[in-house]
Amino acid sequence: MHIKKQITLLGATGSIGTSTLDVIRKNAHSMRLFAATAFTQVDKLAAIANEFFPEYLVVADERSADKLSATLAHHDKYKPTILTGPEGLSKTASHNGADTVMSAIVGGAGLVPTMDAIKAGKCVLLANKESLVMSGEIFMRAVEEYGATLIPVDSEHNAIFQSLPAEYDRRRPDEFGVRHILLTASGGPFRTLPMEQISSVTPAQACAHPNWDMGRKISVDSASMMNKGLEFIEAFWLFGVAPENIKVVIHPQSIIHSMVQYVDGSVVAQMGNPDMKTPIAHALAYPSRITSGVNDLNLFDMQDLTFTRPCYERYPNLYLATQACKLGQAATTALNAANEEAVDAFLNEQIQFLDIYNVNKRVMEQCSSTELSTIDQVLAHDKNCRELAQGAIAQVKND
Ligand code: NDP
Repeated sequence: MHIKKQITLLGATGSIGTSTLDVIRKNAHSMRLFAATAFTQVDKLAAIANEFFPEYLVVADERSADKLSATLAHHDKYKPTILTGPEGLSKTASHNGADTVMSAIVGGAGLVPTMDAIKAGKCVLLANKESLVMSGEIFMRAVEEYGATLIPVDSEHNAIFQSLPAEYDRRRPDEFGVRHILLTASGGPFRTLPMEQISSVTPAQACAHPNWDMGRKISVDSASMMNKGLEFIEAFWLFGVAPENIKVVIHPQSIIHSMVQYVDGSVVAQMGNPDMKTPIAHALAYPSRITSGVNDLNLFDMQDLTFTRPCYERYPNLYLATQACKLGQAATTALNAANEEAVDAFLNEQIQFLDIYNVNKRVMEQCSSTELSTIDQVLAHDKNCRELAQGAIAQVKND
């Protein structure tokens, strides 16, 4: 009998969660949703439960659990276990009923459940880049120690993963002839906006990405190119290539999703239409291939593919992230924490778009030298940096 892959989906109600469900729906003969988690969108989780019948559901608190339970009460046979809060996430992420865990919670909240999945030796499909940015060294050590498998879902890192040999070892990039990682970036919605207009952009403008349809936080990060900065750090940890050998390339068409440049002159790229269902399907089926529902790329329809260097004056957050990567884990955790708080303040119209950089810079300057060797220390540092970020937000509002 063919055994279906059992999947736990952390962040089922988000953008990556929705695309993951699309792929599971298309491949229901070979995979099944074992557990799904939400935070605020209880009704959306109920709709997911009504369609996929996962055994475990997780929501933020008891009130949401009661609401979810009442919504599903009409089923005679389907009686899922409903868990709550961080404990519920941890229990679900490490549950032995699933072999594969999609990590698609947004922000630092994804760190602990992702680590729980790693410690349980799961095959972890990583969309939540923030967890790697916050705890890279501890995270990658845990992957080895607990025998977990890590497959990147972020389109760029998935493209790099596909462009490297299957036996690639991040501890020895030189042995595999890797010269550079070429991390592509669309440049976001403000790539050509006159510089003097950037200071007054609105959250709606920042969230209107030209090529990708994503959650609000990552959309703002794409507009500021902090997203590419976080991805720079993510690439450093995933592939073990020195920061000097990771190059960001602006490629506005988002057809090439990233490349690896080798010492023999070869450049290996992964291409496709810009749709997260492709890397999600690749990660879910690896090393096989399954249909994702994404249209075939038609090369004859394609306009010119262009490549330019990023301008740090337009994207100062990208520069900040490359510096944080060189400084180490305390700096990258500080930057991530400050950025989450600053993006939230921008989305709530408390600060202006360029203030995101001002907040990030202030916090990074204050807390880049702490020694972090456990997840508890990372979480304490993260909390401290968020408090500093709130202070910096109050300051920039008054500047
Ligand atoms: P969304 O904002 O669309 O979704 C986030 C998910 O996380 C939702 O399910 C949300 O629940 C849940 N969530 C939010 N806060 C918490 C919390 N404190 N505790 C538990 N769950 C929480 O984000 P995206 O899907 O866009 O992004 C998810 C991750 O994937 C991010 O790390 C992002 O950087 C990464 N990524 C996203 C890409 C994309 O195209 N969207 C591309 C590559 C990477 P609810 O909605 O119920 O509140």
